[in-house]
Amino acid sequence: MVRKLLVGLGVALGIALSALLAYLLPAHVQVRGVTPSLPTATDLRRLQNVVGGPIAVYYLVTSHQSSPQGTLGHDVILIEWPDGDLFMIDAGMDRDAATAFGETVQTMFGGDPAIVDGTVSELLGDAVRRVAAVGFTHLHIDHTQGLIDFCAARGSGATLLQTRYQHELHNFNTSEGAAIVGSSCLTRFEVAADGLTTFDRFPGLGMAPLGGHTPGSTLFAVGLRDRLLLFSGDITNSLADIRDDRGKGFVYSFLLVPEHTGRTAELRTWLAALDAAPDIDVVVSHDLANVRQALVPFTN
Ligand SMILES: [Zn+2]
Repeated sequence: MVRKLLVGLGVALGIALSALLAYLLPAHVQVRGVTPSLPTATDLRRLQNVVGGPIAVYYLVTSHQSSPQGTLGHDVILIEWPDGDLFMIDAGMDRDAATAFGETVQTMFGGDPAIVDGTVSELLGDAVRRVAAVGFTHLHIDHTQGLIDFCAARGSGATLLQTRYQHELHNFNTSEGAAIVGSSCLTRFEVAADGLTTFDRFPGLGMAPLGGHTPGSTLFAVGLRDRLLLFSGDITNSLADIRDDRGKGFVYSFLLVPEHTGRTAELRTWLAALDAAPDIDVVVSHDLANVRQALVPFTN
């Protein structure tokens, strides 16, 4: 009787594990296929001190949450040019989505409930019309859902700057965000797949595919006079994890968010070397202390 029960349990466990593998495997294979060459420090420094380059880089916080690892922020980055145009990186979430996301984070990792600071359109006010283009560090819902609110206020007229990887490769964690972006008010600008892309329209701005965290994970680099700011998205969840070369662990990187852990390790080393230079600051999306230290808050 006991033997039969154990055999039954073994079979059930086997079926459950096979189903889990079948669910996760395609995403793991896909993200391991994205290993574009990385820009050199020399390539990136060409963005510094360009004629007509950015005059300021700001942040907005749409929601934040205390956790055992520090304050987790859902922020939006705004780069400003002399003519008043803004480039926006990520969109945060609206109030309901931020509250629900915060509850999930609290259940899984502990800490406090999320505090909602405002939607991107509320925080931008009239400046929403000055946003000429938008890019996403990746297409997870906590970076893309706020685009719905943004578009309701902005209407058409803004451009999407996106790598081919981010446009074409999606998994169970990014397809919802991809659908929001794909059906949004943004008009997509076609760009090359690999290496650092620059834009005549936005001097001093660069974009390069990274992979690692998601297939479409993207670096945005900004030359702010003689400084260079590198927006690394969610390659890590804190700047300390880059400096101390710390991964996210098995449960996160293999089960929750299928990552190419070899690639994220390579990216941590690459970012740490760049961040060590006195003229370069790496800015990690969710590390609110890092964002506040590197940038100035946006006021409209
Ligand atoms: Zn995120």
